[in-house]
Amino acid sequence: MTINKSDRRFAVFTSGGDSPGMNAAVRAVVRTAEQRGVPMHAILEGYQGMVDGGDRIRRLTWNDVGGILQQGGTVIGSARCLAFRERAGRLRAARNLLANHIDGLIVIGGDGSLTGANVFRQEWPELLAELVERGDIDPALAKAHPHLQIVGMVGSIDNDMFGTDMTIGADTALHRIVDAIDTIVSTAASHHRTFIVEVMGRHCGYLALMGGLATGANWVLIPECPPDTDDWEEQMCDKLQSSRDAGRRHGVVVVAEGAQDRNGNPLSSSYIQKVIETRLGTDTRITILGHVQRGGAPSAFDRNLATMLGYTAVEHLLTSNPEDEPKLVGILENSVAVSNLMGCVEKTRSVAKAIAEKDYDGALRRRGSSFAEAWGHLRTLLRAMPRGSTDIRQSRRLAILHQGGPAPGMNTAVRAAARLAIDDGHTVLGIENGFDGLLSGSVHEMQWMSVHGWVGRGGAELGTSRRVPTGEKLERIAHCIEKHRIDEILMVGGWAGYMSAYNIYLARERYPQLRIPFVCLPATINNNLPGTEYAIGVDTALNSIVGNVDRIKQSAVATHRCFIVEVMGHDCGYLALVAGLATGAERVYLPEEGISLKLLQKDVERLVKEFGGGKRLGLFVRSENAEEIYTTDFIARLFEQEGGDVFDVRQSILGHTQQGGNPTPYDRTQAIRLAARAVQFLNEQAGSDNPPAATIGLNKGKVTFTSLEELPNLIHPNLQRPRNQRWLALRPIAQAMSAPQ
Ligand code: ADP
Repeated sequence: MTINKSDRRFAVFTSGGDSPGMNAAVRAVVRTAEQRGVPMHAILEGYQGMVDGGDRIRRLTWNDVGGILQQGGTVIGSARCLAFRERAGRLRAARNLLANHIDGLIVIGGDGSLTGANVFRQEWPELLAELVERGDIDPALAKAHPHLQIVGMVGSIDNDMFGTDMTIGADTALHRIVDAIDTIVSTAASHHRTFIVEVMGRHCGYLALMGGLATGANWVLIPECPPDTDDWEEQMCDKLQSSRDAGRRHGVVVVAEGAQDRNGNPLSSSYIQKVIETRLGTDTRITILGHVQRGGAPSAFDRNLATMLGYTAVEHLLTSNPEDEPKLVGILENSVAVSNLMGCVEKTRSVAKAIAEKDYDGALRRRGSSFAEAWGHLRTLLRAMPRGSTDIRQSRRLAILHQGGPAPGMNTAVRAAARLAIDDGHTVLGIENGFDGLLSGSVHEMQWMSVHGWVGRGGAELGTSRRVPTGEKLERIAHCIEKHRIDEILMVGGWAGYMSAYNIYLARERYPQLRIPFVCLPATINNNLPGTEYAIGVDTALNSIVGNVDRIKQSAVATHRCFIVEVMGHDCGYLALVAGLATGAERVYLPEEGISLKLLQKDVERLVKEFGGGKRLGLFVRSENAEEIYTTDFIARLFEQEGGDVFDVRQSILGHTQQGGNPTPYDRTQAIRLAARAVQFLNEQAGSDNPPAATIGLNKGKVTFTSLEELPNLIHPNLQRPRNQRWLALRPIAQAMSAPQ
């Protein structure tokens, strides 16, 4: 029996608790492997399928993973398997893998599943020796597969693993939680009720923390940060009472299932209910969200995260040494990163250990800086009323306004900035309808309760304008700034806002009143702004597109139909590309690449061939400015004509639905993060001789500032987009997912 290296086979499986996005990962693994000409097997029902063997280990091809991207759970099944915990079970698993020549595994699961894979890999040589000795396998077969190669990715809603800033499924779970709390708030407000919402997270408070932050909860309890005083029950009740006194009709307490006090005693929802009812005498109800958090269609983020990780896992298996230590593929600082798997598992376990040993500072530190930062923002924002000025001499007048198209999350940012600034003792002025409003005098002082209910409200309560001030308007703006004694400006907006800010910056020389600190906070669904990889509103628009396209796909599949979907983006193809990736589009037309007749011909020929061969659905996404002549209508007519009787074509221009809707959890938490850092920046710059004019942004997962002076160097000379767009690196992944070789 001669066996060569090309006889190596790989398998993917899902294990432990399921999470939304696992299917997207399996799809990406199978399709990337097929693109590379490597067969990929799936092991059904996790380790149980490996122990059972037979038809539970089977080859998957391109079409087998069609139509699963948008499904929750895992179509290849997951299980908890006692047999695999025993050596005898692992011996059977090794024999079953070798029967299929498999010696490379892609594991999608939690830390238990990943640990199991490591144990298996360590034992592999001994297991093979034993199988040879027993005569179960040919020695040549054992010799051809001396190592078991492992690449893992984390499928878990808890977001509790080192080695990845986000686990597959956590964002979707947060969507479920935030939707549920938003819904509960409306009924709670009708009856002056307080709700205690219990969310998953035995050792990790991520879901409770972000869920509480994104919904404006009154109090949040998480395992890493137990209440730090003995009278916390009284403080919690005071908060609930004073928020009621201020006019809030409802109260929400979010509790992680693993919440505890400083002595390690569990804090149950029923205990908290009793405390509130006894002390405040209010109607208090408990909602335990349970498995709702795990289920349902994955969010756009989870689909794309899983796709990127699945793609990288295969690339890594194919290019690395089979003897290498097991690896974990994750996302760190907004880039895919490969780390040592067991190092990550050990660090993850050290957090649970720190909590068990009551080393809470250590637990919080290990969770990373953005977790601690979010906890800090939450603590400030959950104040029912401001502390009042700490030092009146430091008190300044901050004006907040929007400029550019509306984007979901604008209200969230304004609420956070206004409350944090008021809490710091400043006066906050809300300017309606952008700089036009400033000129017409629509300026009013905002109070703590002016922004009540804004945390999750779509649209822009302050109003916005798209007109970029030039010429004598700049002089008038200078006078208005003087008249209203504005000390600093926070502009939350898009392209028109950035251009306005730049004009004001340039006019500083002529009008000294304009020499005040100015910060631009990126909020636009187009994601076309300089100085940031991510703008507030994009995630909401993306999820709105993905939800609509899911429905469109369902309608099309019954009729052999091809859809051309047009999405917004102006001169930037970001939304089109990431929406195409998250919906499984076979082609995305981007302004960065343009459209040629040759490309259209290639696409239509492929469609005719594939629909002729039994294909039932086609999906193309076109960015609105992809090309001037080859419009969505043109492409639809061309395809319809060429499709003849084989398929028909429909176009769908999604339009303004993309700008609407309540902001997603990610847009809310990032809006709060940016607003908080912008206010802090303005505080730090107060009194500076050279007041800064800057943009705030998210780059490689961190908050950064860029001087407005840089603006011309950062943007395309004639188009509304930045020169550097890191997301373009996603194009090979989108291509690998869309067409078999
Ligand atoms: P999760 O992967 O979600 O953390 P579990 O901890 O339940 O879920 O692990 C899933 C499966 O992984 C277990 O049922 C078992 O088959 C396997 N497994 C977990 N830990 C080990 C281990 N130490 N040794 C062998 N197999 C393990």
